[in-house]
Amino acid sequence: VYHQAKFINSAPSLKHAPPDHGLEIAFAGRSNAGKSSALNTLTRQNALARISKTPGRTQMLNFFAISEERRFVDLPGYGFASAPLAIKQQWQKAIEEYMNRRKSLCGIVLVMDARHPLTEFDWQMLHWCEHAELPVHILLTKSDKLSFGAAKNTLLQVQEELSGAPIPLTVQLFSSLKKSGVDEAHQALDYLFAQ
Ligand code: GDP
Repeated sequence: VYHQAKFINSAPSLKHAPPDHGLEIAFAGRSNAGKSSALNTLTRQNALARISKTPGRTQMLNFFAISEERRFVDLPGYGFASAPLAIKQQWQKAIEEYMNRRKSLCGIVLVMDARHPLTEFDWQMLHWCEHAELPVHILLTKSDKLSFGAAKNTLLQVQEELSGAPIPLTVQLFSSLKKSGVDEAHQALDYLFAQ
């Protein structure tokens, strides 16, 4: 079903979001982590990322319909170290508001570059997930850039580091380039939607 994804709209704030019924999974990640590529790979569409990357839309919540009752939301990429404080605060406020108020939100997919997992920004997002009691699935993407052994080590390290988390949390290796980890990610999405 995931390849039937269709763009709904870009919402500058929650007020402009589609009606809050059904179920929603939000994709978050540091800028350049590979979130757009992961979304494209998981939906087998190239149009999704192009939409989210349209200038002016990157700071908004982008909604996609998967089916009548299920949606994906592409959250604005975070981690522009150089962004002015006011912009960062605006971003933070929009994400927190969305995560705490959105009733249909049933889980978060957190995309990390497998070479640089668990950045300061990732921890902030994980704390918000804990606060909102949302299950998280982590995609360690660009795994093709690591050797088999190094990728496996990274996976184990991240799992270990997050083993005490008070929310359901799963981690996997992923590569949009090699299309690896797609079935596992689809299963994780099914699981989040079933929560
Ligand atoms: P976003 O800012 O998180 O949406 O990141 P993008 O999806 O635009 O990816 C950022 C850069 O990483 C681009 O140059 C992509 O081509 C590259 N990239 C994304 N995913 C992968 C991957 O799985 N493997 C490799 N080797 N490169 C990737």
